[in-house]
Amino acid sequence: MSLGCDLSILEELTSNAKQIQDDVLNKILKANANTEYLHRFLEGSSDKELFKKNVPVVTYEDVKPYIDRVANGEPSDIISGEPITTFNRSSGTSSGNQKIYPANNIYFENLLFGYALSSLLVSKHVDGYKQGKVMIFRFTHQITTTPCGLPIAPALTSFIRRKSYSNMAKSSTSPYEITLCPDAKQSMYCQLLCGLVQRDEVVSVGATFPSVLLQIIHFLENYWKELCSNIKSGNVSDWITDLSCRDSVSIILGEPNPELANLIENECGQKSWQGIITRLWPKTKCIETIITGTMSQHIPALDYYSSKLPLVSKVYASSEACFGINVNPLSKPQHVSYTFLPNMSYFEFIEVDADGGTTGEIADLVNVKLGCYYEPLVTNFSGLHRCRVGDILQVTGFYNNTPQFRFVRRKNTVLCVDVEPTTEEDILKALARATVVLESSDLILTGFTCYGDISIVPGHYVFYLELKAKVNNGANVLQLDNKVLVEYCCVMEESLSGIYRRLRGKEGSIGPLEVRIVQQRTFDSLMEYFVSRGSSITQYKTPICINSTEALKVLEDKVLARYFSDRSPSL
Ligand code: AMP
Repeated sequence: MSLGCDLSILEELTSNAKQIQDDVLNKILKANANTEYLHRFLEGSSDKELFKKNVPVVTYEDVKPYIDRVANGEPSDIISGEPITTFNRSSGTSSGNQKIYPANNIYFENLLFGYALSSLLVSKHVDGYKQGKVMIFRFTHQITTTPCGLPIAPALTSFIRRKSYSNMAKSSTSPYEITLCPDAKQSMYCQLLCGLVQRDEVVSVGATFPSVLLQIIHFLENYWKELCSNIKSGNVSDWITDLSCRDSVSIILGEPNPELANLIENECGQKSWQGIITRLWPKTKCIETIITGTMSQHIPALDYYSSKLPLVSKVYASSEACFGINVNPLSKPQHVSYTFLPNMSYFEFIEVDADGGTTGEIADLVNVKLGCYYEPLVTNFSGLHRCRVGDILQVTGFYNNTPQFRFVRRKNTVLCVDVEPTTEEDILKALARATVVLESSDLILTGFTCYGDISIVPGHYVFYLELKAKVNNGANVLQLDNKVLVEYCCVMEESLSGIYRRLRGKEGSIGPLEVRIVQQRTFDSLMEYFVSRGSSITQYKTPICINSTEALKVLEDKVLARYFSDRSPSL
């Protein structure tokens, strides 16, 4: 991918962060001072101090009425001096409510810049990366429109459909036309077929988020025989009816190649799929997918399938803005930090205490303090001003004069059945400890989510797990050991917060933690459910906690067995 420059731009940006942030704010205020929204607070001024004094810190819900008015056909200048050309639909999978964020050209140029810069960093750290191909799975989705005809799509769909992305796609094993295919199944099949045929060139395997990568491995488990038969005959299966997919995959498939087909059959036919990625794509140097935040739940499964190749989390971005990139792409998952890019948007940070409560102090990008926790606020070029992002980050260091942040968690308490504020981070820590129990009995976790069941008193935590045996016993039946799974529940409880353990033990206001084992591929069905409701496959992240009754039904219909903790956790 070419950025038309080298990594010196990173040095320039991070050395001059303060000046660049001031310039960005100045530019935004000049362009937006006369919007209906800002005029209420600034009366046409573009003064930075007045902005800080008068413009309120808001949540999405606060500005939603303004966004909806633009979506319904009123002029963009209600919120933005630059015309709004599209809306980014965020994933919003835990509650089932999706948000739409106004966007324009600048948003997509920023995203391109972030991706391109992070790819330059990967090629600096991974030998041979530039010379090889990346097998990155990306999908596009149907674009809907607002009542006034503006497009609404997941940000990555709009991004991929732009001409500038097609350049970025040149280093990929998947031809651009396949990424554009609206049928996810055909696209997945063809992307895999192209990746298999070009296996010797692949240096990196990935997808934006790991839930998709794992779904692709499941898909391969179902389709490897058919894929091999296509490679053997040199003909693409008849059910690939999308013409541009068919044409572009046929070119890559070329002549019949029984030798390659036999080799793939031999690998896929083995009892264990441990290391399948490196076995099928032997020159792969890294897995490019985001494994910070809730995505860390997928690390054990990715390690299993990739023989522990480095997991590279490149970018931290959202529907509101591109925030930062990982300047040490090979750092271990627990050490990944994102260096904010000061030219992307104007960033401020509300300090939060260890429990997530706001202290009220707001710092500029360059003034955040090492070790402190913050929620970012975004002021962007498409109508958001001091809008809370809802993520909690911790400052881990500085790159030149620009802070680096560890992604800690989403802000809100995710589980609460009494008064305990259990956060995403609490759950992920407990999950990491309990996963050791599974691994010691040769099971791997391939899907995880939870909810707080308050339909009976006392309420209790329910964790849904999809498991897979490390070695296939031939019958494809999962052997579940009661002792192991009860121990799993107990270790989870032992690893939760002191408040949880007190309420669960001494006070008895929380009931025993429950684990429900679901059938294989349940988490693929969950993803399909969310995608059918408008989520993007490319942006899909398995929600750590589910509140939507319909989504819970998808899981409930597939429960195989239930286990409960059989003792109170220690205090
Ligand atoms: P969306 O707007 O649907 O793209 O979701 C954006 C959200 O995804 C962010 O606010 C984060 O909570 C999460 N996210 C995005 N990138 C990362 C990352 N690198 N690490 C952890 N979480 C991320």
